[in-house]
Amino acid sequence: MHTVLVTGGAGFIGSHLVHQLIGRGDCRVVNLDKLTYAGNSEAVAEVAGDRNYTFVKADVCDVDRVADLLKRHHCNAVIHLAAETHVDRSIAGPGEFVRTNVQGTFGVVEASKQYWSNLPADQRDVFRVVHVSTDEVYGSLGDDGAFDESSPYRPNSPYSASKAASDHLVRAYHQTYGLPTIITHCGNNYGPWQFPEKLIPVVIRQAVAQQPIPVYGDGTNVRDWIHVSDHCRALHQIWRHGRPGEVYDVGGGGERSNLDIVKTVCQSVDTVLGRSEPSVDQIQFVRDRPGHDFRYAIRGEKIRSELGWGPEVTFQEGIRETVAWYLDHRDFLQTNPLA
Ligand code: NAD
Repeated sequence: MHTVLVTGGAGFIGSHLVHQLIGRGDCRVVNLDKLTYAGNSEAVAEVAGDRNYTFVKADVCDVDRVADLLKRHHCNAVIHLAAETHVDRSIAGPGEFVRTNVQGTFGVVEASKQYWSNLPADQRDVFRVVHVSTDEVYGSLGDDGAFDESSPYRPNSPYSASKAASDHLVRAYHQTYGLPTIITHCGNNYGPWQFPEKLIPVVIRQAVAQQPIPVYGDGTNVRDWIHVSDHCRALHQIWRHGRPGEVYDVGGGGERSNLDIVKTVCQSVDTVLGRSEPSVDQIQFVRDRPGHDFRYAIRGEKIRSELGWGPEVTFQEGIRETVAWYLDHRDFLQTNPLA
């Protein structure tokens, strides 16, 4: 039996990871989450009564609290997802991103170092800290090429800069203290429980309400999309079989323009609701986001060849399931993104 401290486990990706880990039957999960506007207890309600699950409302910036939890629960891994994640919010107010993403990651690696350095040798060898980061740290691509683990860091938004800073801290804790850390970079995730300020739930909400569907610029920006369950399988594989001190980029092959995403989601909503008037007519191009990266793409060769991981959910199938889920959870879709 493993015991994993998951930070940010009440968020979008974290809640899926918590379900996957508990579902395996060989993991106890301690979910540390501050429950900010983006955290949602409902997303983990199904496991709330499970004997292998513990929820703790806490802040990753609190080093003593994180260290105490690691010790109290005899953890042998940390998967660190807690973060501020919305790029637009980082442009309007970068301070909270620096606090949560940089200071919070310091909290996690410092507490992990204190705990890990006092473990007996056999437990030290298996302990891992997996830091969940983003392909946005690499900046923007032109029409060709793809990021890989040796791509230089060129973050362009306060969000990606704060994630890049957190990556550097994690790397430094490995290089300086030998803490067994692994860094991951994933592309854009989609699936149930994504907070309704992000592109796909926004499109579904606006399409359902027959309201304007905002698309930045001309919609040609490209992202590498992945279903959240595929990302969580990758995180498990990286934790169990990845090499300490390494970086693994997660994704590959999911490139789509924003406009393509919006049109696919609109068609899916129309099909489910039996609409004859196409929702794509509601698309409204709006002024581009400042510093908007043009294109992200992930090569994904290392994780495929070294860990045998590859995505399993096709985009068509994943979008159909995601749209159906949001249409069944319209209260969540209406959560006020500005609250
Ligand atoms: P999210 O915004 O849905 O959830 C973040 C969670 O962190 C929330 O539950 C929130 O309550 C919690 N949190 C925030 N500040 C905290 C603090 N100080 N202490 C404890 N908990 C705190 O985020 P997400 O989309 O699930 O992303 C999770 C991680 O994955 C982030 O680190 C993000 O950078 C990374 N990531 C996300 C994507 C994506 O497409 N969503 C892609 C690549 C990487």
